[in-house]
Amino acid sequence: MKYDCIVIGSGAGGLTVAFGLAGAGKKILLIEKSNVGGECTWSGCVPSKAFINLSKNQMPIEIALEEVRKVIKNIAGKEDPIVLKEKGIDYIKGIGKFIKEDSIEVNEEIYTGDKIVIATGSSPFIPPIKGLENIDYLTNSNFFIQKTIPKKLVMIGGGVISLELSFALKRFGIDVTIYEIGEKLVPVEDEEISEFYKNKLRKEGIELYLNCGNIELKQEGDKVQVITENKVEEFDKIFISTGRVPNINGLDLEKTGVSYSKRGINVNENMLTDNKNIYAIGDVVGPYRFSHMAGYNGEIVVRNILFPYIKKKADYRSIPWTIFTNPEFSRMGINEREAMELKENIKIYKLLGKDNERSIISLEDDFYLKVICDKKFRVIGACCIGDRAGEIIGLLQFMNSQNLKFYKLMESIQAYPTYIDSLRKLSKLAYVDHLKELVKI
Ligand SMILES: Cc1cc2nc3c(=O)[nH]c(=O)nc-3n(C[C@H](O)[C@H](O)[C@H](O)COP(=O)(O)OP(=O)(O)OC[C@H]3O[C@@H](n4cnc5c(N)ncnc54)[C@H](O)[C@@H]3O)c2cc1C
Repeated sequence: MKYDCIVIGSGAGGLTVAFGLAGAGKKILLIEKSNVGGECTWSGCVPSKAFINLSKNQMPIEIALEEVRKVIKNIAGKEDPIVLKEKGIDYIKGIGKFIKEDSIEVNEEIYTGDKIVIATGSSPFIPPIKGLENIDYLTNSNFFIQKTIPKKLVMIGGGVISLELSFALKRFGIDVTIYEIGEKLVPVEDEEISEFYKNKLRKEGIELYLNCGNIELKQEGDKVQVITENKVEEFDKIFISTGRVPNINGLDLEKTGVSYSKRGINVNENMLTDNKNIYAIGDVVGPYRFSHMAGYNGEIVVRNILFPYIKKKADYRSIPWTIFTNPEFSRMGINEREAMELKENIKIYKLLGKDNERSIISLEDDFYLKVICDKKFRVIGACCIGDRAGEIIGLLQFMNSQNLKFYKLMESIQAYPTYIDSLRKLSKLAYVDHLKELVKI
């Protein structure tokens, strides 16, 4: 059977391509080995954010996990096989693999596509820790199908998934300890953000051990022991959260000329692989493993397949992301460290909770906002700690994408006391700097 495009994987990336191309009248085949919706819907963004949100209510963890599964069902219903059929997308459940560059085998049938999009996502990276092979551990893949979570949990890894779930678990009354291999948390962020998380964990009663590259694990009855140089500590259950690996195995890419490394499939700025008819998008490519990036990559592919003569390029200069802890942390574009390396007339504007009326009103001590502008006052980076950090950063990302100068925000009217109004007030500082520069001229 011949298609205009075959999409392997139905996560945020694959669905974007399938819906986009089918909407433009193309004949599409979507292949998915598990549940339509992928990681984000079933074991990533959706359940983790629902779980975090429910942790703010006083409820037993068993009920919260049930509620999480209802949320998954609700979201999954918007992209299930019935919806795919309504949109004119052919769907097959099964494992897809290349048999030649334009042909995919699934369930012992062969399908051919003018274009093929690899959107197979990523899986939890399982580190080679001594003893782990004998232990029944949790990852995000099986966490949300648990009926309950035992009282004392150890997180191996201190990345985003670990931080988000640890704070929530603690609120559900679970005793959490984090063992992190690195010397600091969230190392890609500025120093004050790593420090914030370190202090916040301790404040919430979550034990944190850094520099833990050399641990051993042992099952002792129904307990798991974490053995370090200095001590042995016992836990009920272990959660592995040590990063992601791209889902490349089993695709038989060797038959296509598509190159890859252990970090992911190699693509150019048009999301095209080394083969001119095969694209790859989302987590299987990286390096920004977020749902919105898989969707963004997918939109680029849709554009480039539909309009091959005006190729759209991926632009990674101002990507936003949010860590959904309480409070949230969100960031876009470059950080202060990177800004300093640019060696141009960078301007940095900061707002602390004690100077932000909305934070004072909300008793929100941790609030922190930093906006980085280039010499022309265009926003090139920002980060925020706060209740609505993701939304604040969203506005700054929009300003960046439209090349708007930060002080332009001052000309808008915002409701008091919203966070956006706090941001507007911060932009006055940029306005004053702008006036000073004008006067100098
Ligand atoms: C706990 C957790 C929380 C997260 N929270 C957020 C968040 O808040 N915000 C955010 O933006 N991102 C978040 N992410 C990241 C987000 O889930 C991923 O970036 C996103 O799902 C990637 O989409 P994708 O389409 O590339 O891949 P996936 O969603 O992984 O989809 C790939 C699909 O391909 C299928 N597949 C694989 N191989 C084959 C094959 N050979 N044949 C057929 N099918 C195949 C898989 O079964 C899967 O369904 C989170 C991730 C985790 C783990």
